[in-house]
Amino acid sequence: MAEKKDEILKKLEKGELKIYEIEKLVQDANEASKIRRAFVEKKWGKSLQHVGETSIDFNDALNRNIENPIGATQVPLGYAGELKIKGDYAKGDYPVLLATTEGKLVAGISRGISTLNKNGGVDVSILKDGMARDILVRVARVKEAAKLIKWIESAEGFKFLKTAFSESTKHGKLIEVKAYAAGRDVHIRFRANTGAAMGMNMVTIASKSSVEKLIEEAHKTLGFKVTLISESGNMCADKKPAYIDIVEGRGVSLIADALIPRKIIEERFGVQPEAMVELNKAKNLIGSALAGAHGFNAQVANILAAMYIAHGQDAAQIVEGSQTLTDVSITDDNLYISIFMPAIEVGTYGGGTKRETQKEALSLLGMYGENDAEGKTRLAFAELVAGTCLAGELNLIAAEASLTLAKSHSQLKR
Ligand code: NAP
Repeated sequence: MAEKKDEILKKLEKGELKIYEIEKLVQDANEASKIRRAFVEKKWGKSLQHVGETSIDFNDALNRNIENPIGATQVPLGYAGELKIKGDYAKGDYPVLLATTEGKLVAGISRGISTLNKNGGVDVSILKDGMARDILVRVARVKEAAKLIKWIESAEGFKFLKTAFSESTKHGKLIEVKAYAAGRDVHIRFRANTGAAMGMNMVTIASKSSVEKLIEEAHKTLGFKVTLISESGNMCADKKPAYIDIVEGRGVSLIADALIPRKIIEERFGVQPEAMVELNKAKNLIGSALAGAHGFNAQVANILAAMYIAHGQDAAQIVEGSQTLTDVSITDDNLYISIFMPAIEVGTYGGGTKRETQKEALSLLGMYGENDAEGKTRLAFAELVAGTCLAGELNLIAAEASLTLAKSHSQLKR
């Protein structure tokens, strides 16, 4: 093997072998990753000792999760305690794991969690569930675009697309199709339930295949040509901040809330609920409005990033998820806090969920979704994400209110 390794390294150095061709000569992808790493270390004259220390099986991860592997990046994982959830799917106490390099994040979420637990935890409800993909097509003139949209949104059109969709996926179930025109371009936004998978590959493949069949059908029954322009026309909207995801929802749309007696807030945070209400209004509502933000919250992206990384989610979808609204008020001498999360795109099967540490994290929750065709584990995980985000919002709003508003209140003798 050592001889073979030297031979491959020489070929790489001479440019006779491409960096992505090592697996053609070495059957074991773990060995191939070591050779590739040695090549990179030699080329740049730097050690990648820690990058090489990983338990990932690249024979399984290659192409599914990564190309040209050379090792792994390690992110510290913290245990923030157990959160009490009263959801539609998650019911009981769940461990909260956060992968982050941001000091004080785990401690802060932990404080939020223990405060919520003191009065029964978090209530979470699911409003909608459906992963979306926009397939963009073009016709010759606007009259045809209008005719096409009418047909797509008719009972006959939906039935046709639903049947076509189901031919490409066992777990994906089409629930809605909406079409939007821009001149002669038509954006066809598919939404589907996706079992335990987050569903981005699944829905893209099945939507594209449905549109290919629609193109044939349109030619026959509507009498004009429809051309496929893009398998992602950006009205999905994937990994870009977009109001359509807030209004229509993408992935799981949830609401979560908690009621915490004044006494608990004052004891735990050393702040009055009124100061938290004021801070939420000034910062999360007015400040965000002034900034033209899509997210009206304190730090939802922090919790999403840490949970998505720990549990094998697509971290880029924090963009949509952070479009969350946090509201705080007072009811009968209790602090009332709620969040509305229109686009929590998560999966408990497929994507990165099978990677070693990520699968362990989901398994700890009892939420690894293999054999979960209905997607109950995915919905339960979305609820846990929402509950943890609420804990993060509670803690940061209290922390900021106690540091700033409480001080200014006493200085102004209010
Ligand atoms: P996936 O790993 O590509 O596919 C999951 C597949 O597993 C499904 O298509 C399904 O097959 C099968 N499956 C088996 N048991 C299942 C169960 N219990 N529930 C659901 N599916 C089950 O995962 P994905 O969620 O569709 O896509 C996630 C990946 O897409 C991530 O890696 C993400 O980074 C990537 N991504 C892709 C795009 C894109 O445009 N393609 C965009 C963003 C992210 P059947 O369909 O036959 O049922």
